[in-house]
This record gives sequence, structure tokens and C-alpha cells, in this order.
Amino acid sequence: MKIHEYQACELLASYGVPVPSGIVVESADAAVAAYEQLAGDSATKVAVVKAQVHAGGRGKGGGVRVVRSADGARQAASEILSKPLVTHQTGPQGVAVKKLLVVAGVDIVKEYYVGMAIDRAAGCPVLIASSEGGVEIEAVARDNPDAIVREPVDPTTGLQAFQGRKVAYSIGLSGKLVSQAVKLMGNLARAFVATDASLAEINPLVVTPPTEAHPDGQLLAIDAKINFDDNALFRQPKIAAMADPSEQDEAEARAAEHDLNYINLDGNIGCLVNGAGLAMATMDLVKLHGAEPANFLDVGGSASEQAVTEAFRIILEDDAVKGVLVNIFGGIAKCDTIAAAIITAAKDVGFQVPLVVRLEGTNVEKARELLDGAKDSIPTFQTATDLTDAARKITVAIAA
Ligand code: GDP
Ligand code: MN
Repeated sequence: MKIHEYQACELLASYGVPVPSGIVVESADAAVAAYEQLAGDSATKVAVVKAQVHAGGRGKGGGVRVVRSADGARQAASEILSKPLVTHQTGPQGVAVKKLLVVAGVDIVKEYYVGMAIDRAAGCPVLIASSEGGVEIEAVARDNPDAIVREPVDPTTGLQAFQGRKVAYSIGLSGKLVSQAVKLMGNLARAFVATDASLAEINPLVVTPPTEAHPDGQLLAIDAKINFDDNALFRQPKIAAMADPSEQDEAEARAAEHDLNYINLDGNIGCLVNGAGLAMATMDLVKLHGAEPANFLDVGGSASEQAVTEAFRIILEDDAVKGVLVNIFGGIAKCDTIAAAIITAAKDVGFQVPLVVRLEGTNVEKARELLDGAKDSIPTFQTATDLTDAARKITVAIAA
């Protein structure tokens, strides 16, 4: 599960990570009021208006604007709210912006990156840090891997001070910033473990200019992104309550309600499969035969006829779908349940597009009987003997 930047900042602040003060708004008028409150009386008069969407790269896409006046805040807010925000993570259609975060602007001496993730190879959380902040960490990893340091974190003890110091020195921090960094990174690690996060990034973590009170400057998290492990949400009610359904793909949300594992993709072959491994293999076979899957869909082993019918509805309501491939290996799943769902979906929604079905396993005879009996009501229906045959048939059918 993903949350917005403003929620991530609030969460990190509650764990003692320093973040700028900010106000969430939904209109240009409210953005002006927020600007006045945060920056109107400040020495620099600088604030930042930031689109709140579940996608990164907002800065480059025009979704983060540094403003120096109330008029500037109004203009930035109305521009960002007026059209979908396109970043390298949103696809060309972009995403609608409904909320803005207005924050007090800060002067930046240098930008760093710090983040927590799970190191799957090591089987433990890992702190990742870099002196190359503000840019995508994936690009740093590719172009300048030596600029990234990693430190494993034991979830039971948290990040130890000596580890924090090692990381702080290796990204080039010195003076009073080292102890600030040790505290900040320790708190970030604590937040990560306590909330069952899968990723918690501060990019950039900035150093502000020196002041009398802080001659070495101060560390401040001016952007935060946190993703959580969906499988832990049952014990994280506060985190679960932060979900923003308007940011979720509608079909994916519907599928989740029926316990279907569904992910929308760019191709045109709708795939209905049981088991994640078989679903992956089916997508591979579709691609091998020159077509592209429109979705990943694992209906699971114990899916009810109702859930499977909903799965067909979701696939058939997608205009991009030009053909449907059903590949079921009935172990726990029963082929006749799938067949019954196909028949119901044909009645309710209708298959306007070619349908190729490959069924094997539990109750397959009964399933074949059911489908044979309903053939006339599903004119685009073909059976396949195996998966290769199915992939070939659906590719030919959509080309016809
Ligand atoms: P992202 O592009 O979605 O990662 O959004 P960020 O919140 O990271 O903002 C992008 C960039 O805008 C940062 O890397 C900074 O360079 C700049 N920026 C954001 N907030 C401020 C600020 O308060 N002051 C200044 N000077 N720059 C900022
Ligand atoms: Mn950022």
C-alpha cells in the first residue's frame, strides 16, 4: 500500500524525523491562505506547492513549484490542479491531482538520499544512503553505484549508533550533522520496522544553510515516500486507514474486494488463470506467441463462482481487451466452478471478443459438459488442448 507525501511526512515526524511544516489544500484559494500562514511572515517568503499523487518524479513533471508570493502560490496551485500530472512513473495519460501540500520553503546547501528497504538476499531490512540526493536513486545505482552505501539493520535492535556514524561519514557528512544524521536514520529505521513498511525513502534529505544556533546547518527531510506490506495491514489499522481509494486503479480495487490478485497491464489479451506461477507462465506464452497480456489475474485456488464471474466482468469491461484466455489447472480449484462462471459472465456481460479456454484437473469432465451445453450462447468460444495451443489460438483469433 502507498500513501501520500504529506502522510509520510506526518508519520516520520511522529518518529522524530525533522520535516518542514506544511498544510494540505484542495483549491488555489486554500493554497494562498496556506502560503500566508507558512511563508507570509518569513524572511525568505519562500514556500513550495507540491502535487500529492502516488507517483515520483513530480519535480521534473511540474508538480513541485517553489513560490515566493501569494500570487505565485495561487498560480502554481491552479496550474497543478487543472490538469493530470505526467511523470516518468505515471504513463503518458498522467494522474489527476486532487490534493496539494504547501510547505515552508527551505534554502538547500546539499541534497542527500536516505532510505530503508528490505534486502531480500540478506533477508533483513537495509539502510541505503547516498551523497547523490534529489535524483532518482535507481539512476544513481545504475550510473554511479559507488555513491550508494548500504547498512543491514537488525529489526530487533534497530540501527546502532556506530552503524549510523559509519553511514553518515561515508556519504560525506561532518561536524554536528553527523549526530543529527545518526538520530534521523535511527528514527527512520524505527518507523520502517514499526509500521511494516516495505520502502521508506527520504529524497532529498537536505542540509540547510548555517545559522548562529546551527553553525553546520540542519538536516531536514523535504520529501518522503513510504510503501507498506499489504500482508501486514491487518495489524496496522492506523496505516490501513491512510489508504486513498481515489489513487487506486478502479479495476484493481474491485478485484481486491473479491480476493482476486489482479494487475492491469498494457496489452490486449485478458488472462484468467489460477495460481500466480501459472499466471506468469501464461503471460510468457502469450508474449512468446506475439501478443501482449492485458492483465495479470490469479483467481486463486478457492475462488467462488461469484468471484470468478466478477473476474470475467473486470476483464470484459476493459476496452483494451480484444481476446480472453482462460487457463485453469484444477487442483484445489474446480474446473466446473470456472465453467459455471464463464456461462454466467456470458449471460451477464457477453463475450464480444474471442474466448479460448484450457481446463485440466479436478472436475474437468463436468466442466466440459457444462461448456458444451452452453456453446450456442458463447459463439466466440474455443477450447484448447494445452497452454501452447491456447496461446496460439487466442493470438490467431484476435488477428482475424
Ligand atoms: P519529487 O520530484 O516527486 O521527488 O519531489 P521532491 O519533493 O523531491 O521535490 C523535487 C525537488 O524540488 C527537490 O529535489 C528539490 O531540489 C526541490 N525542492 C523541493 N522543496 C524545496 C524547497 O523547500 N526549497 C528548494 N530550494 N527546493 C525544493
Ligand atoms: Mn523526491
